[in-house]
Amino acid sequence: MKSISGLLFWGVLITANSAFSQKLLLKNGHIVNPATEEITNGHLVIQDEIINDILQEVPATFEGEVIDLSGKWLIPSLNDMHTHSFGNSGPGNKSQLLSTVGTAKMMLYCGVTGFLDLFNAEDYIINLRNRQRIKGLRGADIYCAGPCFTCTDGHCTEYGIPTRVIDSPEDARREVSALAEKNPDVIKLVYHTNGRMPTVNKETMEALIKAANEHEIKTVIHIGSWQDAEEAVLAGATALTHTIKKEIPHKLLKLLKQKDVFMIPTLTVHSGLLKISESPNFLKNDLLKNVTTEALLAAYEDSSLFGTHAKHWLDRQKSQREIILRNIKKLSQNGIRIMTGTDAGNLGTFQGYSVHTELALLVEAGLSPWQALAASGTVPGEFWGKSFGVQPGDEANLVVLSASPIEDIRNTEKIEMIIHHGKVVDREKLIAVQK
Ligand SMILES: [Zn+2]
Repeated sequence: MKSISGLLFWGVLITANSAFSQKLLLKNGHIVNPATEEITNGHLVIQDEIINDILQEVPATFEGEVIDLSGKWLIPSLNDMHTHSFGNSGPGNKSQLLSTVGTAKMMLYCGVTGFLDLFNAEDYIINLRNRQRIKGLRGADIYCAGPCFTCTDGHCTEYGIPTRVIDSPEDARREVSALAEKNPDVIKLVYHTNGRMPTVNKETMEALIKAANEHEIKTVIHIGSWQDAEEAVLAGATALTHTIKKEIPHKLLKLLKQKDVFMIPTLTVHSGLLKISESPNFLKNDLLKNVTTEALLAAYEDSSLFGTHAKHWLDRQKSQREIILRNIKKLSQNGIRIMTGTDAGNLGTFQGYSVHTELALLVEAGLSPWQALAASGTVPGEFWGKSFGVQPGDEANLVVLSASPIEDIRNTEKIEMIIHHGKVVDREKLIAVQK
């Protein structure tokens, strides 16, 4: 009884909301469509959080708000498909604690309307996500894994956040069933066989993916080698995350394509620190400054704070750069669906801002700006089974830019306006506390 009356209550609210829903006309914009790789000049009509129509002529009368986008570019909003939304880490433990609530605001400020948290305190993040879906919550849309499935003493146990530990197929089935009741958006598993920490064995990995598939929950598998990747894909994984510093085998490329697996390579976590050290203006970027603190950025400028851990990361990033970028190009050339994910929360990454770095890295790897925009804008929609994009029927999540992202992918940082769930976002409010 309780749940039925609850449903009725929300039903009434939703109806009431749509009765007041406003129409929005974005006229004269250059509409950049990564799905067709075309730029069209037109007038986009938004109603009830959906792109309703693209008109060739401006209507004589329009009941609703009209915004003139003359000389501006309109792209699908961005998504970060791999993050840890507590905040940002800096050298010398100079971190910026945002919590997921604050992270969601910084994300949205950067044009990122959705993010997938791949390990956080389970009940905290799932409850927050549920609250957002029912009541709304300022900031980007939260998707989450909840815990990170790993073995005893495996990767993810070192952060002091309780997680789900599985050491056998029985453990995997039991823990997946228990988590399934809380409706996670994905299940995240660490399957990293050649690392310094122990990992689940092959049978446990297979049992976890099978159980998740039976519960119809997507899986994102953290891999440590191409062999791990092949085994996880054969077990039925939905997506793989991270990339490997060895040449990707041709056989695996064929398999990834055949099984239609999504890749979340997280180039930013593999080369973010290097980008900062090589680009003197990186830390002076206004968009970055607006979503971080002076103390955090100062820590990145202070080489005395770069301990052995940071130096080790930097050396590793240098040695891996070429091979990693070459693998991404091969993935793209073989038609594998790539999504932007930053692994923000780690050193050299910034919540929200790093999605722009990830886009630039994808282009550096050899993807076209169109393919990069698809990786952040439309492909995540395919992953979620939703329509993300700039066509009629797509969800009205858009970013307006002052310059063409096709001419230069770094122009995604030149944000003029953000539309989220069909409404213009008050960006200054998002960073009000921050400043
Ligand atoms: Zn991660």
